[in-house]
Amino acid sequence: MFMQIRKGMSEEDGQQYYALVNLADTEITRMASDYSDNELELFRKAMDLIVESENGMACSTDILNLADKLQSKKMKKKEVEGVLQRLVVDKWLCEKNGEYTLSTRCIMEMEQYIRNMYQDLVKLCNICHNIAIQSQMCENPSCGIKMHVPCVARYFRGRTEPHCPACNEFWPHEIPVISRSQSQIPSPSQPASSKENSAPSTKTPRSSRLRK
Ligand SMILES: [Zn+2]
Ligand SMILES: [Zn+2]
Repeated sequence: MFMQIRKGMSEEDGQQYYALVNLADTEITRMASDYSDNELELFRKAMDLIVESENGMACSTDILNLADKLQSKKMKKKEVEGVLQRLVVDKWLCEKNGEYTLSTRCIMEMEQYIRNMYQDLVKLCNICHNIAIQSQMCENPSCGIKMHVPCVARYFRGRTEPHCPACNEFWPHEIPVISRSQSQIPSPSQPASSKENSAPSTKTPRSSRLRK
């Protein structure tokens, strides 16, 4: 078996996660036992929206509008809502205030797929060198580096004038503040919490297997 333990970081709060990733089988097709063809098509198209966006998010309205653009079989908006809910429960997507992002699990398990699919679009974080989806981007067109939000917070902490680490242009985005408890070092009092929220680390990662 080609299993590997991978380390990843939440793009949300910078927490580190570990996932057991099956290297022989990292494509979206592995989701096929849990999702039908048009549901997978919806997921791929939602992923397109997320990866192609500047900040790594897609709003629910845009995803719902995919309903009648599906080629395999059209869906009603209500059905799309249901699929989105399942994708969140199964930890492929995260939702916050109507904005959808790729989950830590999704980025870790589908890293190869994302790199193949979106070769030129995908950028690595200038700080941690992992794939940067949910991120801030330098607005200098000849630079355009990306940084994860928690990496931005850490990098600019304590600096008065934020400048791009690559081109030195002013960094025009809001500098997020990551609270101490959410920093990259998990506090020893809650060692299990990061594990719980991360990708399930067993050989049967799909929680929906327990559905019936
Ligand atoms: Zn980063
Ligand atoms: Zn720059």
